[in-house]
Amino acid sequence: MQGCIKCGHRAIRRRRGFVEKILCEASYYCDNCGARWNDYRPFFAIFQRYAHCPRCHTPDLTRLTRRDKIDSMSSNPLRFLLLFVGAPLYHCTFCRLQFRDWRGLDPERPGRHR
Ligand SMILES: [Zn+2]
Ligand SMILES: [Zn+2]
Repeated sequence: MQGCIKCGHRAIRRRRGFVEKILCEASYYCDNCGARWNDYRPFFAIFQRYAHCPRCHTPDLTRLTRRDKIDSMSSNPLRFLLLFVGAPLYHCTFCRLQFRDWRGLDPERPGRHR
């Protein structure tokens, strides 16, 4: 079940408009804090402004200076190529996946004060 990206409250799926149906797998809103967000289809996720976990889509990531050998690493060959362009390495707080992404961290992401 999806939780709110801001407050962790249970998220409610909302109806998508025509464009959103093409771009997104699902749209959600939170009736606790009013947050709205979309789960973009993997292809369109590259147009998102900030880095998100490719597995669970959370923006709640930690930047790593080097790879952690215990946690799993994304096997996406595209992300492997990012190693050679010096893209930063991120670690997902929830599913513990490590991956490279050329985008920065979302300044509005939850848990940034942890
Ligand atoms: Zn919320
Ligand atoms: Zn994740």
